[in-house]
Amino acid sequence: MGKTYDVAVIGAGSVGVPAALALARAGLSVLVIDGMPSPGQLSNKKAIGGIRATHSDFGKIRVSQRSIEIFSAWKEAEGDEIGWLSNGYSYPAYSADMEKKLKDLMQVQHGFGLNIRWVSPAEYDELVPGISMDGLRGSTYSPDDGSASPLLAVNAFYFKSLAAGAEYRFGERVTALRLAKGRVGAVVTDRGEYAAGQVINAAGNGARAIARLAGLDSPVEPDNHEGAITEPVRRFFGPMVVDMRPEPGSANYYFYQNHEGQVVFCITPDPPILGVHPESTSVFFPQVARRMVQLYPRLATLRVRRSWRGQYPMTPDGFPIVGRAAEVENYIHAVGMCGQGFMLGPGLGELLTRIVTRRETADDARTLMSFLPGRAFSGLEALK
Ligand SMILES: Cc1cc2nc3c(=O)[nH]c(=O)nc-3n(C[C@H](O)[C@H](O)[C@H](O)COP(=O)(O)OP(=O)(O)OC[C@H]3O[C@@H](n4cnc5c(N)ncnc54)[C@H](O)[C@@H]3O)c2cc1C
Repeated sequence: MGKTYDVAVIGAGSVGVPAALALARAGLSVLVIDGMPSPGQLSNKKAIGGIRATHSDFGKIRVSQRSIEIFSAWKEAEGDEIGWLSNGYSYPAYSADMEKKLKDLMQVQHGFGLNIRWVSPAEYDELVPGISMDGLRGSTYSPDDGSASPLLAVNAFYFKSLAAGAEYRFGERVTALRLAKGRVGAVVTDRGEYAAGQVINAAGNGARAIARLAGLDSPVEPDNHEGAITEPVRRFFGPMVVDMRPEPGSANYYFYQNHEGQVVFCITPDPPILGVHPESTSVFFPQVARRMVQLYPRLATLRVRRSWRGQYPMTPDGFPIVGRAAEVENYIHAVGMCGQGFMLGPGLGELLTRIVTRRETADDARTLMSFLPGRAFSGLEALK
């Protein structure tokens, strides 16, 4: 064992890399350990790039608002193209029940100061020209939400974190945590052992296995989702479209046109398919394409380039698990990002830095109430 790092981060993904950047920029010595050969190779690169602050609770809203500030200013402030597009999000309603649900939620979101409004069917047809008007009652529209490329973003954060002094060990799997006197003394991998003052679990799908190494339980289950991307075409619609209507075999699905003009989309299987199953299925494409074309017939002529499958690191209630462990004093949870780890990553990186340096603000304390590691996991996030 050589140097003792201020912080060891387990996982170089959507959360671990921006956390390393924020920690290194705060002047801390940081080591990030990942079993894969380079950053962002697991869930991060499976994300389709949606970024919104329009959630239903204070914690996710605050963290995502900060993420949006970081993503949207990145190119100007840091010089890298990360594909940021301020395209907004929309949730169209095709039933009175959905309209009421979304409008009730909008009141909560207005309470948090979010820029979201209800648009009429005619206005929505201007934002998404040619969308099915059959039963359309209107839609939410939050123009400040957006999108970026998870591949470009994680690499931009990675190189900037290296420049700030963060160190990485790729191709090393964490196999044990050496515990002594209620603390983690060292992180043990299949290739070495690293001493650190504090340890952050940002292991995504591997969260529960890492927590167990510290004698803790983090109820995070990988939940399989498939995504796909089309050829690029001229921009023809604005916001992310999230259709919340369930159908047999699937819950919601969502799609948007990215900074290069490609339509990117995915669907939520119902019932969920748990475990890690990296292979694509023959169910996904016919299921999602039928629903998308029914909703938006103009998509029918687009050619799909490729599809893939990845996992949401899901918690039972749809909220992340973030904060210092009560049982192991220098162990910090940053897991269970569900379907939002990419959008939460940069804001969370800064929050984790304040946790590490014990400089949490009153706002942070309120945020962390949404993400409490020891909660009952009995609630359910409205836009999970
Ligand atoms: C189809 C699809 C679409 C999605 N769309 C979006 C979206 O639009 N917006 C959004 O915000 N999110 C989206 N997500 C969710 C998002 O991808 C995840 O929430 C996010 O990537 C999780 O981040 P993470 O850092 O927790 O995990 P990861 O990015 O997977 O990082 C965890 C890292 O930990 C490493 N690791 C694990 N165990 C060990 C170990 N024992 N030793 C060493 N290293 C280890 C892994 O190798 C991995 O690199 C989508 C996901 C899918 C599958």
